[in-house]
Amino acid sequence: MPQLNENFLRLEKNYLFINIAKKIAAFKEAHPEADIIRMGIGDVTLPIAPVVIEAMKKGCDEMGVKETFKGYEDSGAGYDFLREAVSGYYKSFGADVAPDEIRINDGAKSDCGNIVDIFGDDNTILVTDPAYPVYVDSNLMSGRKIIYADSNEENGFAAMPDESVHADIIYLCSPNNPTGSVYTRTQLKEWIAYAKKNNAIIIYDSAYEAFITDPDVPRSIFCIEGAKECCIEMCSLSKTAGFTGMRCGYTVIPEALKVIASDGTEVSVAQIWGRRQGSKFNGVSYPVQCAAAAVFTPEGLKQVHENIAYYQENARIISDTMTKLGVKFTGGVNSPYIWFKCPNDMKSWDFFDLMLEKIAVVGTPGAGFGKNGEGWFRLTSFGDRQRTIEAMERFEKLVSDMK
Ligand code: PLP
Repeated sequence: MPQLNENFLRLEKNYLFINIAKKIAAFKEAHPEADIIRMGIGDVTLPIAPVVIEAMKKGCDEMGVKETFKGYEDSGAGYDFLREAVSGYYKSFGADVAPDEIRINDGAKSDCGNIVDIFGDDNTILVTDPAYPVYVDSNLMSGRKIIYADSNEENGFAAMPDESVHADIIYLCSPNNPTGSVYTRTQLKEWIAYAKKNNAIIIYDSAYEAFITDPDVPRSIFCIEGAKECCIEMCSLSKTAGFTGMRCGYTVIPEALKVIASDGTEVSVAQIWGRRQGSKFNGVSYPVQCAAAAVFTPEGLKQVHENIAYYQENARIISDTMTKLGVKFTGGVNSPYIWFKCPNDMKSWDFFDLMLEKIAVVGTPGAGFGKNGEGWFRLTSFGDRQRTIEAMERFEKLVSDMK
């Protein structure tokens, strides 16, 4: 009989959103007439920009013609036209990232999980808590030691390094899922100094960078001096351009990023990651890469920003409701997420049940993202405008009645 990787038995039995879906299904069965508003899962709802769809159709047409048909892509790292477009995008906000430091993938989640393949199991992993679950889960699966940096009300849900603690791999996410908090330039400099002191590597998830409006908040870790010697960045078109159902993202591993192997030789992290991908990943489809490249054209950026502006206005509506009610929150600016403290010090799952029962609004209990999420709650601004307004009207009544 094959043996299991028993590390999987250490994981939460169900992924957070499966538990939420089960609760919604039970509620629906008991209340078939209920008009449920979903503000839980961080999925987008607006259609993809027309210029992007046109580029994808053109890519499909090319696949149907012998002269322009494409099979496997030679490098598996993405077509040059897309890697150059991503590199140009980075330059537009002050990060110097060369096309050959970029690898195209099927979304940030895969690489956030898979990158651990290239690191030894004895590394100490530092994760800010609360966190997007893949950072913790993928390291639990391989039995690594995980330590946590607390993000909490006191530090505005932006954990900073503790100099007395050593870590080898550090996960940072800014703008943060679930808390909507962001790291400033000064804070990121501090993390880079900590990484260098510990010979550590930062895995920086910038999936929500397109929501940043504050000029003091960097759109990439590579806007910070010294990042190229100690950072990897993962980004995605899922939230930037509505690609959750298209699947395309990119990972940046700088040429300058090296580790010393046990025999003393210096090894390029990009080279090892390329080797891993060569064995286990055959690249992203050509039409999707054509669509992705269209995002970075002037017209593409203009069109995707119209959608982002729509979500930002939803975020403002939610934030204004919290402010009006005196509910403490982070996010809402520079982020599509609003992370608020449950009224009357309620626990996250209790507040989830209350919202579902009383106002049929679904959010995400903060406790599902780590211990510091207990007592907090996440709402997303990715929904429809009228439904967001309606949800906030119901929320206002609920919270006013609780006072
Ligand atoms: N990183 C963060 C912080 C996310 O919230 C998400 C998705 O919600 C992802 C990465 C994954 O995005 P995708 O795999 O769709 O590119």
